[in-house]
Amino acid sequence: MSQTPDATLANLKRTIDKNGMILRGAYLIADARLGAAGVVQQGAVAIAGDTVVDTGPFAALQPKYPGARILGDGRQLLLPGLVDAHSHGRGLSPIQKGVRNDFLENALFDWARGTVLAPELSAALCAWRHLRSGCTLLHHNGFDDDGDEGARRAHVAIRTYLATGIRLAFSPGVRDESKLVMGGEEFVATLPAELGDAVRPLVFFDKEAFADAYFRLFDELYDAYDGDDTKILLAPSWAHGASEAFMRRVRAVADRRGGVMIHMHLLQSPVHKAWGRRRHKKPTVFWLDDLGLVAEDCAYGHAIHVTEPEIALMGRRRVTVTSHPSCNFHMRNGITPVMPLRAAGVNVAMGLDDKTINDDEDAVMELRMMHKVHRLDTYELTNPPLDAYEALEIATVNGARAAGFAGRTGALLPGMKADAILVDLDRVARDPWIDPKFDIADAFVERAMGSDVATVVVGGKVVIEDRRPLTIDVDGLYREIRAFCAKGLTPEQRARADLLARVKPHAQAWYAGWHDGLVDRPFYRVNSRG
Ligand SMILES: [Zn+2]
Repeated sequence: MSQTPDATLANLKRTIDKNGMILRGAYLIADARLGAAGVVQQGAVAIAGDTVVDTGPFAALQPKYPGARILGDGRQLLLPGLVDAHSHGRGLSPIQKGVRNDFLENALFDWARGTVLAPELSAALCAWRHLRSGCTLLHHNGFDDDGDEGARRAHVAIRTYLATGIRLAFSPGVRDESKLVMGGEEFVATLPAELGDAVRPLVFFDKEAFADAYFRLFDELYDAYDGDDTKILLAPSWAHGASEAFMRRVRAVADRRGGVMIHMHLLQSPVHKAWGRRRHKKPTVFWLDDLGLVAEDCAYGHAIHVTEPEIALMGRRRVTVTSHPSCNFHMRNGITPVMPLRAAGVNVAMGLDDKTINDDEDAVMELRMMHKVHRLDTYELTNPPLDAYEALEIATVNGARAAGFAGRTGALLPGMKADAILVDLDRVARDPWIDPKFDIADAFVERAMGSDVATVVVGGKVVIEDRRPLTIDVDGLYREIRAFCAKGLTPEQRARADLLARVKPHAQAWYAGWHDGLVDRPFYRVNSRG
């Protein structure tokens, strides 16, 4: 599990009196995979530098490291930080920007009305929301990171995230196809001439130069930031927005670099499912397989509209799927078949995708959504639902693997990164009472909120202590965001939003009927007409 050699660990232990700390809880869940058997009552974690060096009962750890600083009042739950394995770092939600969420195909036009925050503001806000709700590792999946401006924004965002102390995986993301609609070249021909001329640059552009710029940006970011603490991933934004040539280059670059995760949106809507069959004459996952992109280093966001044969292949190849249950409701997408995916051997992780159930990027609430939504997979009385530890595993270790940190974070085991949270149990267990024999993971998953997270440690560094942010000036940040948003859209942004609003009804007509016959045999039992 650990990638830190024993000798290094022994050296680290010797330094704990000077620069180390002990986190203590009423309960320690060090590794969700161990289930209830892994819970340590009055448990603690000893940390030296950025690394976990020891775990066990507090009473046993404290005498071993007498000089270590002690954090936690002994009445809290201590567990690994949660992982958001798929988000876009937009900071304010579409709702906050005054745009209702809707079907993805509609939203891609509507979102043009939303303010685009400066990257230092969106990254800081995004980091703050994640940290305050106990998320210590965030994967920022870029979107339309094109050109010089895309590159500038990526650098600024990464530096801002790192300054907040959150652990980061960052994937610059682009689409070299389907920037307007799927099947754009034929679609443009259906538009009134004047509208068609206006959107042509979104469809017809130099794809080779575009791809060259993308891989230059990836190399630049990788060389500047990738390492033990931070990961840079590859991200063709969508399986439905990338040419075969682009995908082949993605595979080649991942192979050249070695160990780089490839992340893409996959089959989020029935329209995507239809597009795969029209464009490639086969299910999208089988097309990806032809390109070497169904492999252990591949992670797919959503994967809602996958078929049984696609799931079987994904399981055999040990791929990762990030599931974003709240987002899928916001976007009217459906429900990712998480239970069949897990049964097939897929590594399922959690993503917040900027659209959570309370619209506040609360990672604990999203964990609860994950736990609740997949109770719908069966009506068999003897089939157990996803249990609390499995939900926690999805939101910790599985997410770490999705973000390129397999074996490095997601659990609090000696040799791993010290990314941990202390959760107050006042509301969970003392409002006014909970059966003390009840399982602590169940109690947390059923009753906790992000606001119960008191203290957050990332890589041995305390970033939030007793709900006080130590790395972010939240009041100042909020003032800057309000001032920025008060300026409204630029004339160029407004003109673009107006243009896209005029194209939208044509796109709706273009996609009409695409999903016919493709959503008739769901995996989950929801209701029935007969
Ligand atoms: Zn997404």
